[in-house]
Amino acid sequence: MLIVQKFGGSSVADAGRIRNVAAIIAESYLEGHEMVVVLSAQGDTTDDLLEKAAELNQAPSKRELDMLLATGEQQSIALMAMALEAMGLPVVSLTGWQAGVRTNTDYSAARINRVNTERLRRELDKKRIVLVAGFQGVNKFDDYTTLGRGGSDTTAVALAAALHADKCQIFTDVQGVYTADPRKVPGAKKLDEITYDEMLELASMGAQVLMNRSVQLAKRYGVELEVLSSLVRAPGTKVKEVSRSMEEMKITGIAKDDNVARVTVMQVADRPGSAFRVLNAVARAGINVDMIIQANGRDGTNDMSFVVAQADAEAAEKVLRQRQPAIGFADISVDKDIAKVSVVGAGMMSSVGIASLVFEALNDEHINIQMINTSEVKISCVIDAASADRAVAAIHRKFFEA
Ligand code: ADP
Ligand code: ASP
Ligand code: MG
Repeated sequence: MLIVQKFGGSSVADAGRIRNVAAIIAESYLEGHEMVVVLSAQGDTTDDLLEKAAELNQAPSKRELDMLLATGEQQSIALMAMALEAMGLPVVSLTGWQAGVRTNTDYSAARINRVNTERLRRELDKKRIVLVAGFQGVNKFDDYTTLGRGGSDTTAVALAAALHADKCQIFTDVQGVYTADPRKVPGAKKLDEITYDEMLELASMGAQVLMNRSVQLAKRYGVELEVLSSLVRAPGTKVKEVSRSMEEMKITGIAKDDNVARVTVMQVADRPGSAFRVLNAVARAGINVDMIIQANGRDGTNDMSFVVAQADAEAAEKVLRQRQPAIGFADISVDKDIAKVSVVGAGMMSSVGIASLVFEALNDEHINIQMINTSEVKISCVIDAASADRAVAAIHRKFFEA
């Protein structure tokens, strides 16, 4: 079998953890499998590198930032290679570049265009364990790029797809995908299986256990994933097209995203084209928006609010202010002290009363809902950031601990 394994930052945080992971890799290799292993930077390395950068420049170019961030993953692969060498195993470490991971030119949020697998195949043919630096690739200018936070998951899935791997195992610091973040909600339950679509929603709504783009890729190429612990030997969660629990469970899980901000554009003229002008300005700046609501004023104007990623809040405000005369509105406010809490589940479609249960849970906790958005598979509420963990716990009790 060809197996792709990925180990996240906490799984390789120090020498002890690296030895632990080396033993997991060795076990699979010695069973006779071809092994490609993707590693993340150790522990908080990526955050530490970002801090180092900020000491010198508050707004460094993304190219140089990627050059810096890519070093974190390179440390991990070299150290892991040394640990495996010390065990007498044949191993080679490859950067994203050496492994043939080609991306577009979108520094810091690059997308993988293709993986040239020749070198990987050559190394596998030599019966070596191949270690690949996650989160990085190289663009058409031969510059390093990074894939966005959590991007090693995407590297792993892309390699599994390109190599037609038999298995793609994502090892992390929890035992799988849970009904809510198990570090925040002690009663969270591990799911044996989850569909790509549900996992994609959970990941997109803030469950960081898998990067959402890795799930998209997995779905597109039919790569079945298993999320499992590098510290506890136990079956994890299978992420696949159809899951056994699909029919039974009304909701699959609850996620929180506090990396969001609310932008409110006040007193927009109540006439055709206003919403278009506001959102078009934001879209043209390359900013994604979510949860758009419009509140009718009585004076011929509307207030429009929407949610953006916190990192995009200033840019959204700036572009709107620049276009204020053309759009026509009174003022803008930006609130970063919010969180989006989402309930996800494909079973929601066929059951009534899910939304009211969510609202009841928030009401029980006296938590005010600022914005609501519903689709066939999710309900999201924007609330104040300070109440977010309490909100997730309360909703979780209603659905999973009753
Ligand atoms: P890694 O470094 O292995 O990539 P991450 O920190 O990116 O690990 O993701 C694992 C973390 O995701 C867990 O420690 C957990 O706190 C968090 N998490 C959030 N939501 C969930 C969920 N629904 N199920 C499992 N883990 C979750
Ligand atoms: N090291 C990168 C990050 O911290 C990529 C990853 O861990 O997947 O985001
Ligand atoms: Mg991660």
